[in-house]
Amino acid sequence: MKLLVGLGAVAVPLVSARIVAPRGPSVSYDGYRVYRVDTHADVATVESQIRNLRLVNFSPGTIDHLDLAVSPEDISAFDALGLDAAVVHEDLGKDILSEGPLRPYLRTTESADLPGLEWFDNYHPYEDHLQFLEDLHLAFPDNSELVTAGASYEGRPIQGIHFWGENGKGGRPAVYWHGTVHAREWITTMTVEYLLYQLISGYLDGTEDVKAIVDAYDFYILPVVNPDGFIHTQTTDRMWRKNRQPRDAERCTGTDVNRNWPHFWNVTGGASDSPCAETFRGLSPGDTPEMQSLVAFTDAVAAANEGGIKLYIDWHSYGHLILLSYGGDCDARVENYERQMELARGTAAVVETVDGSKYTAGPVCDVLYAASGGSMDYVYDVAGAELSWGYELSPADAAGGGFVLPADQILPTVVENWEGMRWLLSTM
Ligand SMILES: [Zn+2]
Repeated sequence: MKLLVGLGAVAVPLVSARIVAPRGPSVSYDGYRVYRVDTHADVATVESQIRNLRLVNFSPGTIDHLDLAVSPEDISAFDALGLDAAVVHEDLGKDILSEGPLRPYLRTTESADLPGLEWFDNYHPYEDHLQFLEDLHLAFPDNSELVTAGASYEGRPIQGIHFWGENGKGGRPAVYWHGTVHAREWITTMTVEYLLYQLISGYLDGTEDVKAIVDAYDFYILPVVNPDGFIHTQTTDRMWRKNRQPRDAERCTGTDVNRNWPHFWNVTGGASDSPCAETFRGLSPGDTPEMQSLVAFTDAVAAANEGGIKLYIDWHSYGHLILLSYGGDCDARVENYERQMELARGTAAVVETVDGSKYTAGPVCDVLYAASGGSMDYVYDVAGAELSWGYELSPADAAGGGFVLPADQILPTVVENWEGMRWLLSTM
């Protein structure tokens, strides 16, 4: 029998783990104008020109274009630069209003029934996501357990759910998903929750293909791996990306947890060494509390299951992309490249049949940019996953709202990607 290190702490009750976040003054994005800038492949020059402007970079690390939200005070200075820029949204503050208020989670029953699908009509406070997860577990008590993958910088447990089918716990290869590592990518939380909802409800209903999927794998799903950052986006700054760890003697807070994995860490061009940058890699490989937790948990998942990790997905937004390794070595190809591409393209084709969304599949270096210290390279190379992907959800671009997806777009996004995953999980 295999010993689970990171999985041993599954008995931590969710309710006692709740922490009330301090509320700071909210950052206003009223009047921020969103531009798409063509960099003509010279991103360094553009970045040096905009260095002193108050703006938010939505696309850190890209080469051919930048999506920027410029503060109203600096719009004229930005326009005066004469960059090849198009306005895609007039007012980011108005876009944020389109997300609607965070809707409290109202359970209509105390029974072991599944929660209602109206959950996916709105965004919700962090604590309610924990309750939602607990309610899914209560509806599927003999085939699931709540798990925690260690703690965040501010001491919050990184919560998830593990569930399995007729072969019992740990009997099958693992399907392993992370959501919300980048705090502002709210659609990822909702998507991961919808997928796990469909898997559990389909199993309980006896839906044939879904039952076969759940019987074939052990699922480990962590909808919010950066809880401190996620809460910060809900209380203080909607556009926050990183964790909330201050660094001594640095004026900026936060490390990009998805540049901090201890594999291909700090590759030139793949992350930033500046603590103020959105892609700050940390001071040494894996030096964030979140990373220490996630590495231990990932290694434990790989060791705990017969067949290791079959599929890992790190869910992100935005861009309509299915990305595979490598991000940290742009000269390397994964060994099973053809197989991974076949499945990624197949998934994209199924997603497109639902509502026409066109996802592009390919290695992160080819499709996007070098990104070092990222999860998918670690999970493929070190944890030995067969398929290891990053998945950029809706919208397709900044013109569609960027990280701010209106509440009425949640359901279309999660539904099309459920169909893609349903095909992938049945086929892979
Ligand atoms: Zn992201």
